[in-house]
Order: sequence, then structure tokens, then C-alpha cells
Amino acid sequence: MNVFICSDMEGITGVVHRDQLTPEGHGWQSARKLMTADINAAIQGVLDECPEARVRVADGHGTMRNILIEELHDAAELVTGGANYRNRPFCQLQGLDGSFDLGFLVGFHSRSGSGGLLQHTLVGTNIRNIRLNGKVVGEIGINAAVMGSFGVPVGLVTGASDLEAEMTADLTGAPVFVSTKQTLGPSAAICLPPGRSLPAIREGARRAVVRYREGGLAVPPVPAGGVMMEVETYRREMAEQALLVPGIERSGECSFRVCGPTAADVYPIVWHGIVRGLDQESAWLS
Ligand SMILES: [Zn+2]
Repeated sequence: MNVFICSDMEGITGVVHRDQLTPEGHGWQSARKLMTADINAAIQGVLDECPEARVRVADGHGTMRNILIEELHDAAELVTGGANYRNRPFCQLQGLDGSFDLGFLVGFHSRSGSGGLLQHTLVGTNIRNIRLNGKVVGEIGINAAVMGSFGVPVGLVTGASDLEAEMTADLTGAPVFVSTKQTLGPSAAICLPPGRSLPAIREGARRAVVRYREGGLAVPPVPAGGVMMEVETYRREMAEQALLVPGIERSGECSFRVCGPTAADVYPIVWHGIVRGLDQESAWLS
């Protein structure tokens, strides 16, 4: 069995504040260890059920160089390095292909405008909303759609408690949800310590493998009419910069869209446009 773990940092055990999310922040080094531990727990849960499993982990937060490889489980390999579209056209999902049986979303957060803990969608400074065939979705919805294009169902989602409703609304099938903390507001939560969250993540990952084997997970159907992904930015200039990317068309004063057969066809162009829409190519991307 091949498992792809797409990871983010906001939904990791003990992470509640921006200070923990960037290399400049005092809490980042500690958050890197916490992130690596949550991911290791998910890997261990897979191995509990399937000792021969192959696991690929993609670091999907900010600089995308957060996970401590020296502490990563030996059963895994790591996709790491800057999220610029030249490096990682699939952004948080770079390294995914059709050889994987099952996907996990570990350490995620809810979408822009949700009011959830550390909420945003991809680039918080630029993006007001992303719509997939007209429906506002967050990062878990986008990533699940792209995974589905490769035939990979999502089996596990971990994050703060507020993410569960978004998962239920936006993801098909019945992924296992593991809450690492109870959301109080945009930058506060009641957190479980690793001694309690790690066993819960491990057990959630194990149950996801069982659910997969029992046929209880579903790949979202590819819409017959194709996929349209639309990005609503905060400022007109952000959308105008994105329009320089081939395949992107304007859909409003501050928004652009990309159409194609599947989410996997559309998303790299959308990500390219989002990066181009940044005022300058940010250091964290390179
Ligand atoms: Zn993140």
C-alpha cells in the first residue's frame, strides 16, 4: 500500500499562533518538532495495519521546509523545498501520482472567512476566496479534488475542531477526522498535549487504512462538464498579475479563473497565477 501524506502546520498539535508558523517566529523551531511528531504518528498508524506500506510525506506549509527529516520515521520519504510553481506546480501535493492508494491531510486549517483557528486559503494576504465549480472551498477541498483526479481518496484529516464541519461539507466519502485542539478563536484553542494527540492521530490513521480496505472511502467523481477553479483576490492588481499566465482568464474585477477537464489539470495553472499575483516573488516561495 502506498500512502501520500500532505501536511500543513496550522492544525498541528499545540500550534495556535502566527509566531509558531514562520522561521522568524520564536515558536517555529518547537512547532517543527510538533509537526514531525504528528506526521510520524500518522505513519505509525499506517504501519500498525500495513507494515509493508510505503509513505511519502509532502511538507506543505510556508517555506515548505518545516519537517525535521532527522526525526522523520524511516518508513517515509519527504518532499521538501520551496513552493514556487517552478519547483512545485502542485504546491502542497507535489510528489503525488496515481501510484498512491490513499491520501492523508495532516495539520490542516479551515478556509478563509470561516472564523476558524488560523483560517486562510493558500495565501492569506492575497486570497479572499477560491471556488471550485462555484462552491467556496478551502485547502482541504482543493487538495481532495486534486487527489481525486489521481484516483486517490482522502482517508484522514487532522486539525483543529472547527475543520471537521468543513471536511464533512466539502469532502466526499467518509474520511476519519482527528481533532488536535478545540478552537476558541482565530488564534487560541484548548490543546491536547502530544501525549494525548499522538495516540489519537495514530489510531485515526490506522482506522483510515481499515476503512480504505473495507471500501468505505470514495474518490470524488470528476465532473462531466470539467472543472472551473476561480480565485477571488483582495486587490485588482493581484488578479491582473495572474492574467499574465497562459490559461488564466478574468472573471471579475479582482478575480480570475481556469477551466479544464480535471482539478489536476487546472490547479497548477491556478497556483502559478496565485504566485504571479504576489506583489513580489516572496522569499518563502523560493
Ligand atoms: Zn500552512
